[in-house]
Amino acid sequence: MRTLQNTQLTDPVWAWADDPGHPKAKRTPMLCPRPDMAAGPMPVGIRGAVPSPEGDQPGSLEFRYWNLAAALRRAADYWGPLMPLGLAWRPEVGLALHATMDHGDDLNAYYDRTGLVFFHHAISGMVVYSAESPDVVCHEVGHAVLDSLQPGLWSVASAEGAAFHESFGDMSAILCALQLESVRAEVIAETLGDLSRTSTLSRIAEQLGWAIREINPAAVDPDCLRNAANSFFYVDPVTLPSRGPASRLCSEPHSFSRVFTGAFLRALAGMWRQQGTTDTASLAAVSVDMGRLLVAAVAAAPLVPGYFAQVAAHMLAADSQLYQGRYGRRLRTAFVRYGILAPTAATSLTADTLQRKSAGIVGAVPLEQPGLAMVTIPGEAYGLTHSFAVAAPTAASRFSVAGAALDVGAVTPSGAGLVAESFVEDLFRRGRVAVPENLRADTDLSGDDEALYTHEIMEDGAGPTLTRRLFD
Ligand SMILES: [Zn+2]
Repeated sequence: MRTLQNTQLTDPVWAWADDPGHPKAKRTPMLCPRPDMAAGPMPVGIRGAVPSPEGDQPGSLEFRYWNLAAALRRAADYWGPLMPLGLAWRPEVGLALHATMDHGDDLNAYYDRTGLVFFHHAISGMVVYSAESPDVVCHEVGHAVLDSLQPGLWSVASAEGAAFHESFGDMSAILCALQLESVRAEVIAETLGDLSRTSTLSRIAEQLGWAIREINPAAVDPDCLRNAANSFFYVDPVTLPSRGPASRLCSEPHSFSRVFTGAFLRALAGMWRQQGTTDTASLAAVSVDMGRLLVAAVAAAPLVPGYFAQVAAHMLAADSQLYQGRYGRRLRTAFVRYGILAPTAATSLTADTLQRKSAGIVGAVPLEQPGLAMVTIPGEAYGLTHSFAVAAPTAASRFSVAGAALDVGAVTPSGAGLVAESFVEDLFRRGRVAVPENLRADTDLSGDDEALYTHEIMEDGAGPTLTRRLFD
């Protein structure tokens, strides 16, 4: 249950702290200052008319508008000061990241390089609006932030790259929620000071998770959409099934993202415990330190098949540059616990190695074209009349590290070509690719027209190419 914050605010609005919760949670919204969406850093906005700020009834148009505004502003206020100098939203997005509050009937939300889009769905006697959950909003803002920091992840055909985008969204939800004093106090009390336990903080999007469970009980975690307090262990996603129930890890990006988010929560918990004092102020400070590590790591980490391990190594490198290795032990142990780094990989990253290889990592501005090689996929395998090209994760590694093998030592990452082929096969198995009419053979496998496609086959001068439409 939330408590009302500072009722003496001028021009206050009502908003949820991190999520409305499932229907039986009976949460109370909080009062917060009326957000100035157009302010810097990283301006945000909501498409359509501005309603009265008086709404205190969850579900009403007024409440939903100002609740969304507060969540957007909170996310932009968190990430904005952490961005490398001069970096804001993607050029296609424009000066401000705009949200469409309700685009129609669905249980989803997405970022598509023009803005954020949210939906509603009537289920079991109530209407669930995805924009009413700050967890969902801050997840989507996370996609937009990461797209600026590492634009190559938009087009690379890699399950691990796509899963990292989803993990970054969930990490954004957790880190942005921690910017509220009331959330910090609540999570410290709820977890008895052990942030790696399941809590309101670790449970991402409880209300949306409930609504999806009403339709398919196995599709999401039993207590939310995805719980960061989990016990998954890294496996090369090329070897995993394309889809499966939430209780199992599969190569679907939201499912596989849980490995990295789990390690992140464990690392965050450890980083906070090692502060001299474990109070709300030190938790706020650690949440900013973690954001700096993530920003530096993702802007510099090359797009390689073993991407989770590469980002993990870059976080250790950023820690060596920014904090003189203060958080190294917490990061290493969390990444080893989740199999993202094999023990041999984690211990190969000595202080000396990190020092030597970390020059220029902090403050790096990512390359617009990260040098990804295109590979050709035969079209007939997927019911297309022509072959098409996709970008494979062919960048050169900075750190020679990999995730854990299931027996001993490190796994040998799959080749970039196989990673790309496997990613494409997954997309067609899940019906996520829109294929234009003129490229469909009579064996067409493209999904039904009701589906939300994440990708499409586009024809440009160089021939058909698999292109991303959105991250949902
Ligand atoms: Zn997402």
